[in-house]
Amino acid sequence: NQKTDMSVFENYESEVRSYSRSFPTIFEKAKGYQLWDKQGKDYIDFFAGAGALNYGHNDDAMQQRLIEYIQSDGLLHSLDMATNARAAFLQKFNEVILKPREMDYKIMFPGPTGTNTVESALKIARKVTGREKVVTFTNAFHGMTIGALSVTGNAFKRHGAGIPLTYSMAMPFDDYMDGIDSLDYLEKMIEDGGSGIDLPAAVILETVQGEGGINAASFEWLKRVEELCHRLDILLIVDDVQAGCGRTGTFFSFEQAGISPDVICMSKSISGSGLPMAITLIKPEYDIWGPGEHNGTFRGNNLAFVTAAEALNHWKTDAFSESILSKSELFKKRLNQFVDEYPELQGEVRGRGLMLGIASAKAGLSGQLAEAAFERGLIVETSGPDDEVLKMLPPPMIDEEGIEKGLDIIEESIKAVLG
Ligand code: PMP
Repeated sequence: NQKTDMSVFENYESEVRSYSRSFPTIFEKAKGYQLWDKQGKDYIDFFAGAGALNYGHNDDAMQQRLIEYIQSDGLLHSLDMATNARAAFLQKFNEVILKPREMDYKIMFPGPTGTNTVESALKIARKVTGREKVVTFTNAFHGMTIGALSVTGNAFKRHGAGIPLTYSMAMPFDDYMDGIDSLDYLEKMIEDGGSGIDLPAAVILETVQGEGGINAASFEWLKRVEELCHRLDILLIVDDVQAGCGRTGTFFSFEQAGISPDVICMSKSISGSGLPMAITLIKPEYDIWGPGEHNGTFRGNNLAFVTAAEALNHWKTDAFSESILSKSELFKKRLNQFVDEYPELQGEVRGRGLMLGIASAKAGLSGQLAEAAFERGLIVETSGPDDEVLKMLPPPMIDEEGIEKGLDIIEESIKAVLG
């Protein structure tokens, strides 16, 4: 996706490769599910900061809380010192999210990004078990540090940095290979003892792989992974960085499968506002960090705590969750119509909740559709190992009108690209 005329970016020539090439304009304003560029052109957002804006841009209540907090001279930065903003978030997360689900977890602030929470999860699993290896899956994406990349199934991202899968082994994700049961295989090889497959410290997975191409694991497979972990005393880490915070219809993506991970990684939409924040949830028996063993300067972003606490109001009742699931039905129905009406797409609809995609067997088509959509005022990305999936992540707060308008643009783009 490199057709961009960079001349629009007068003051950006010195920036290294970025999303500017996919979305060649300068953005000025954003509200809800819409953005406006310098020329005043409006765009519908089906990208939502790659899942960081589940409550939309500049939510009124979050903006108000931020203004009040700043005007009261509340601390902005506080490392891991106690502040009212931090306490308010912790209390609310317990009351609104954990208690009603009867979930008992310790909350850790591992650093500001998704990569940081993954890194902390890998470290705690190794410390708890005294083992090294982590099982990961084909097309997994877990972040950009050497640790997180070493469990990421994207060879392009790994190889550039020369990162082998030294501390991990990749198994086929659910449905990746027809007729091959990767979980039975893994268990047998571990039991074999002589196979060279050591007992791993952890299994890490996304319930719906975002960057890997909107691959949704079946609930049955997720349950089997959990059983395997219990049987062999392996920690189960669910990376809910992209699929969490309501993206698939429930606060945690794994709730619907009825599994109970040992460690949960969350970031992206946890602050609600797009401010950087991450949390790692750890079952209390595994909270064995020594003081100062995992630290970092930006673990105390109080502005993020303020909006994160406000965002949790969406989860006091089931209304938000129900609305996401019903919007998902509307969305999927239309995507299926596109696939049926335009067979040249060679398309397949994938995903869960409002984490959806059309995978196309035609090389390069998804990228062309994303470009055509951008020209028509829709921001949408591609994902998958060959960028073969048009990936749609509208902010779940979007209304039906926004969904229909965005999908109209996708249909126009399909017609234009297929000619
Ligand atoms: N895990 C998953 C599942 C992700 O989708 C991402 C980001 N796309 C990350 C981890 C890394 O998050 P970050 O970019 O904030 O480091």
